[in-house]
Amino acid sequence: MIVMKFGGSSVATAESIGHVVKILQGKPKTKRLLVVFSALGGTTDQLIALGTMAAQGNDEYRTILSEIEKRHVNLVKQLIPEKEQGSALSEIIILCKELEGICEGVFVLRELSPRTLDRIMSFGELMSAAIISSKLNALGIDQLCVDSRKLIVTNDDFNKAAVNFEKTNERIKKFVSDNVQSVLVFPGFVASNLNNITTTLGRGGSDYTAAIIAAAVQAESLEIWTDVSGMMTADPRLVQNVKVISHISYQEAMELCHFGAKVIYPPTIQPVMSKQIPVWVKNTFSPESVGTLIESSVPENEKVVQGLSSFNDITLLRLEGSGMIGIPGFSKRLFEALSNEKINVILITQSSSEHSICVAIDAVNTERAKSAVDRAFENEIAAERVEPLQMETQLSIIALVGDNMKSHPGISGRMFAALGRNGINIRAIAQGSSEKNISAVITEADVKKAVNVLHEEFFESTKKQINVFVAGVGNVGGKLLEQLHAQQEYLQEQLRLQINVVAVSNSKKIYFKEEGIELGNWQANLEKGSATSTQDLKDFIIQKNLRNSVFVDNTGSAEVAQVYEALLQKSIAVVTCNKIAASSNYANYAHLKKITREYNTSFLFETNVGAGLPVIGTLNDLMRSGDEIIKIEAVLSGTLNFVFNNYDGSRPFAEVVKQAQDEGYTEPDPRLDLSGVDVMRKLLILAREAGFVMDIDEIDNNGFMPEQCMTGTVENFYEQMKVHEPHFKAILDEANKMNCRLKFVASLNNGKASVGLQHIPSTHDLYHLYGKDNVVLFYTKRYPAQPLVIKGAGAGAEVTASGIFADVIRAARV
Ligand code: ADP
Ligand code: ASP
Ligand code: MG
Repeated sequence: MIVMKFGGSSVATAESIGHVVKILQGKPKTKRLLVVFSALGGTTDQLIALGTMAAQGNDEYRTILSEIEKRHVNLVKQLIPEKEQGSALSEIIILCKELEGICEGVFVLRELSPRTLDRIMSFGELMSAAIISSKLNALGIDQLCVDSRKLIVTNDDFNKAAVNFEKTNERIKKFVSDNVQSVLVFPGFVASNLNNITTTLGRGGSDYTAAIIAAAVQAESLEIWTDVSGMMTADPRLVQNVKVISHISYQEAMELCHFGAKVIYPPTIQPVMSKQIPVWVKNTFSPESVGTLIESSVPENEKVVQGLSSFNDITLLRLEGSGMIGIPGFSKRLFEALSNEKINVILITQSSSEHSICVAIDAVNTERAKSAVDRAFENEIAAERVEPLQMETQLSIIALVGDNMKSHPGISGRMFAALGRNGINIRAIAQGSSEKNISAVITEADVKKAVNVLHEEFFESTKKQINVFVAGVGNVGGKLLEQLHAQQEYLQEQLRLQINVVAVSNSKKIYFKEEGIELGNWQANLEKGSATSTQDLKDFIIQKNLRNSVFVDNTGSAEVAQVYEALLQKSIAVVTCNKIAASSNYANYAHLKKITREYNTSFLFETNVGAGLPVIGTLNDLMRSGDEIIKIEAVLSGTLNFVFNNYDGSRPFAEVVKQAQDEGYTEPDPRLDLSGVDVMRKLLILAREAGFVMDIDEIDNNGFMPEQCMTGTVENFYEQMKVHEPHFKAILDEANKMNCRLKFVASLNNGKASVGLQHIPSTHDLYHLYGKDNVVLFYTKRYPAQPLVIKGAGAGAEVTASGIFADVIRAARV
């Protein structure tokens, strides 16, 4: 005998019932099939709404009632040939009349007791089983439909009644042996008490009906047919890359379901486990998929962690007080108070100091728990030996499940490290001594992220997904997106990184797509994006709460630089070519560095100095490996280099500056370059990264620009440069006279920083520097005489973008 159960989605439409029929017909004729059906998908919810509205005196309930009737009548008409519809139709109409009568009663009395609700909910399964039985009959299948209420006996706990197995097993066995049909059809979920009053087994309880029947007849197997291809490593509605668990033990399946894997109703496993009946979870819509086998022994070398699950609506209760220390019986009284109220405890933790005990319960019981516990400890609370019960709401539990975790140390370490890296705060932890599950209580808002982080950690070792938010899509940002696009495949294959650009934004708009923006076409989508401000952008990134988030700032905006702090504090990495934050006052710079460490994230700004050249990275490596910076000499302005390399007196200085601006080598306001301020900022950042506590006003600037050029508008700046051409010419002539080139040099010598124009002779390391190149010479304890030299293009969108790209990868691999 095989017991099969088809869930709500498997019987939602005529088409899906067609799949069910095929599956039944595909079974060997020699096997008897005991088949349990749920209500048509969504019906139970509708029935609850119906009862609730009637009880509220809302006569709209009649609309729902007629919808339910219409859906079932239509289904009969679609499934069964016209000549044979009669009995099924009249059965549905009789059931709907009965339901209508009950609802009228509820409407008049304005009262919906749990007992009446069970009666109302029972119609879903009664109708679906009747229809499918008629369909099988019309196909000539030798079948019989029985009302499960006559077989399954429960107590009076309406809405989630407990089964009386002794009576139930006896009745099922008798019924199955008295009736010889090859297919027996049962409505799931419904049962009755000893007085034949209808009860139900709890939401999702049709699985349980099937398990009860399977255990009673010692079936050879139980098959749970649903809308997914088995039990998955996580809830497929939360995680994209879930995998089917092909083989799992009863214990593991039970833990997963208990902690929220909705695919099987938790009590289902117990009866089949005690009879060692194997359970298959199969997909009605893809019957050829293997599915999941649940049984007692799972082959060796099975995965250490089998799956993870989560469920919401948790409240944490904390009983605390000095009066609890060392006195036995406190926890007993706490649990007694809860159990007297029939409140189920989901998770328990007690610190070894015994100063407090913490339990997690279903949020619906919060108020009742509070008053029951405070009543139980009334005297101790009055004597201030125990605090009134504290409650924390809007929490969830996430659980990692696997029989083999006990023999593999370090699993919980990995679990909490992964959560920590993503800024997920843990409110409580429990690990049963059986070590089949490690669970943690977190806030509801973090669930999706947590489940994804853990899934990645334990099941997707092959790939890590990075979620990138890009602010600023001008020259540099545009190039970055182009480069990311071109490298996507390489990164997946070589570095196992899946870089998902989830948002692009400019100062006005944002375009977001959680599954990752198509990088070939972001411009058009951004056009259609929604309006945003910097604050909105920040709130948005935090609220999205995606794992492995990286914020990339390609702007030069002070406002954008302001949001780093809030992001870093949420463990969101910041990668930026914007110099404002790293060159702001020292306290701010140090604070950002400090929270980066505290929140275990990255704040990377390699492109602040020398664009894509590995200047800061090299300096960091020197420092980390114990070297010391003695002196830095550098040409850090691509602009000034360009200008002095091209200014030979044959055309005016102003013209050369204009060319640099037109070719995109200058800051939007070229005076920032010409004044040396931009170089000061870069030197400041290098000095700080080299360990010096420094602010910008401590850097000497021996500028060369006449004051008149530096006031007013950019136009005035060009005008004044023309006026002062002789000044520039004189500087050039003097250098030529001495056979030197002009370089704007930044230097840091024993902690003393300065920038300014210098005469560089042909023997000097800085002499041969062309175009917009930068060069940095590091003189250190290990490179005392011959410096470590980094040289190459120090400006331009392409190289800057590649520097940002490298930082994104660095952040991803933390
Ligand atoms: P049925 O109506 O067939 O009883 P349910 O809706 O009760 O189906 O359960 C199946 C659903 O459970 C799936 O569609 C899936 O979204 C959800 N689910 C949650 N966690 C898991 C998991 N770990 N594995 C498979 N499905 C899961
Ligand atoms: N129809 C019931 C419910 O929706 C039982 C089930 O589908 O398992 O909860
Ligand atoms: Mg279900």
